[in-house]
Amino acid sequence: MKTIFIIALLLIQINSLYAIAIDKAKVKLTDFELEYFVNDNKNLRFEDLNEAKFKKGKNKDSLGTAITNSWLKIQLTNTSDNTLELYIHQNLAFTFDAITFYEANIKNELIKKTNISTGYSKEQSELLGANSVYPVVLEKNETKNIYINQKTLAYHFYDYSILTKDESTNYLIYEKADGIFFFGLLVALALYNLLIFISTRYKEYLYYFLYLLSATIWILYMYGSLSHYFNVYGQLAVKFNFALMLTPIFLALFIQSVFETKEKYIKEHLFLNSIIVLLSSNVVYSFINFNHALGLLSLSLNYSLVIFLFISISIYKKGNQFIKIFLTAHIFYIVFSLYGLMFYMGIVDFNYISSRSMGIGIIIEALILSYLISYKFKKIEEEKKLEQLLKQNALNDKSKIELLLEEKNKLLDISQQKSIELTKLNKQLEQLSITDKLTKLYNRTKIDSFLEEQLKYAKRYKECFSVILLDIDFFKKVNDTHGHQTGDIVLKEFSAILKSNIRETDVLGRWGGEEFIIICPKTNLEETLVVAKKIKSKIENYNFTTIVNCTASFGISNYKINLDIKDIIKNADDALYEAKKNGRNSIASR
Ligand code: GH3
Ligand code: MG
Ligand code: MG
Repeated sequence: MKTIFIIALLLIQINSLYAIAIDKAKVKLTDFELEYFVNDNKNLRFEDLNEAKFKKGKNKDSLGTAITNSWLKIQLTNTSDNTLELYIHQNLAFTFDAITFYEANIKNELIKKTNISTGYSKEQSELLGANSVYPVVLEKNETKNIYINQKTLAYHFYDYSILTKDESTNYLIYEKADGIFFFGLLVALALYNLLIFISTRYKEYLYYFLYLLSATIWILYMYGSLSHYFNVYGQLAVKFNFALMLTPIFLALFIQSVFETKEKYIKEHLFLNSIIVLLSSNVVYSFINFNHALGLLSLSLNYSLVIFLFISISIYKKGNQFIKIFLTAHIFYIVFSLYGLMFYMGIVDFNYISSRSMGIGIIIEALILSYLISYKFKKIEEEKKLEQLLKQNALNDKSKIELLLEEKNKLLDISQQKSIELTKLNKQLEQLSITDKLTKLYNRTKIDSFLEEQLKYAKRYKECFSVILLDIDFFKKVNDTHGHQTGDIVLKEFSAILKSNIRETDVLGRWGGEEFIIICPKTNLEETLVVAKKIKSKIENYNFTTIVNCTASFGISNYKINLDIKDIIKNADDALYEAKKNGRNSIASR
């Protein structure tokens, strides 16, 4: 019996190189070998498959974007003791146009044909989430050949697994969870940036939000989450590549805005504009022929990759250190994109990273860019603070100057006032120093200086001048009779009489006691006599308030060449003495 089984197994092995023998009830085949046959452009039917030369392949692979039609063959043998209920999953079914399962026996006689269309038709009964799920029942020792005809729309990659019912259920629940995780992460980041844009109105945040949004939508589609959770399949799902056309546009706008390329880096700005124009054309063209536009997209994307790299290096060379952040982000994106591109082209093996490479690149780039944007606004904040500080300092300086000016003006005012006061005081002082306290007439000091001046003047211009010395007669008697105070009043009244009876040019002073002096410039003896007579008569006829009347004696002297002050005064004094001797109330001259 054992020998027969081994022979049977060998026969199977000959019949099919990659038969899968399942001997356990618990099945989770996620890594196995199968056979594949590329059937591009030839509509090979199941009946014609004998002609096809199948090649060794893997359960998950990318056959490149050029291939749209392929056949897979999986041979299953139940070597366990129970009947097996298995489920064949294709978890990337959402990008396919149609997947047709041909269930055949070991002799390749067709048992069942199931077409799972992921396009617009309603034949989606076997499609669960993003997965196509095909159930196979294997009796004990039964072998079945499962042929799968895959027709793709954009990418010819597939990922098959063979699972039991429980595994299949688990798989369907958790398979696309990572897409949702990235979706949540990017959506949160996008919304956060949108809110910052709303509050700050900095365009960078808007472009970054749009970039994140388009990238997120594409990742959501690419990871199958869009199909898995929102039932988007086939041609409709492929349309979501539209989001990928938008990402470089928003990224270019973001770079233009963050680095102010329009003002600072004109050449780079134009290159970024070329990305915007190229991808916008791609977007417009996608409305006319979507699949063709999608074919051109990889070209535009590669162009964008190179231009972004070129401009960031160029801006860096021009001394902008801060583009290093973008450069780092972009290098991550380039590396992952190239890896992803190689996966789509069928060059790189199918694995978790390669099949999600572009999305990972976008996520890393997005996170670094979010650092870039915050870094920029930190710099702006710092600049603003500095500006404010400078402004405040300038203000402080201004107010300081104003304060000092005010102080200075105050001091000036005070000093002006003081100087006015001082001159006033000086004048007063001067007045005091030259004025007799009682009569307010010039005192002896002033009279002396007048006499000196007058003498100089007379000598210089050969002019004459006269001096009248007058002495109140019997003044002692006034004091004795009426008191000293009355004597003072008489002296004041006497002064007033003198003041009002001389010329403006004459100088009047108190010589001492009850003696007075009048200097008459440019006046000869006769003219002086006239003045003295006039005064003498005014005095004799004056009614004093405290006494009835009084008289005075006058001694006149006239300047003659070679006389000095002493001589002139002596002459006047002698004349006065003579007038007294002549019986008082009289005038004498020398
Ligand atoms: P004679 O006619 O000879 O000049 O007689 P007299 O009395 O005027 O002369 P005498 O020289 O004897 O006296 C002058 C007096 O004038 C003495 C003095 O008390 C008085 N006298 C001088 N200065 C003042 C003064 O400022 N106020 C008062 N009330 N009297 C004064
Ligand atoms: Mg006298
Ligand atoms: Mg006298």
